[in-house]
Amino acid sequence: MTSKTGPIGPNVIKVHVFQPSGRKVYTVIGKAKEYWTAPDLDFCSCRSFYFGALSSGKPCYHLIGVHKVIRQKSFSSLDFVDYDYDRFIMAIISDSSKNVLTP
Ligand SMILES: [Zn+2]
Repeated sequence: MTSKTGPIGPNVIKVHVFQPSGRKVYTVIGKAKEYWTAPDLDFCSCRSFYFGALSSGKPCYHLIGVHKVIRQKSFSSLDFVDYDYDRFIMAIISDSSKNVLTP
């Protein structure tokens, strides 16, 4: 298991790596909330993504931040197994709908 931390601006980003497929889900830990992003799917669980990015096609700043840390390889990674992937995605979707409904 590898673990790297580094200063990456106002948000802290963690990556959940599912093995053996190597699929990745990123968590952006902001001041008030955590957001789930899946850059492979161009998905983020925040409100601005839901209301803006889907219609405008522009990524929210979480996705931009995630793409940045991927380039810089500056994130903490946690290993999971593929078996947990579906459950994880379900949790993200349920979190996402809560974020969207909460002002
Ligand atoms: Zn976002």
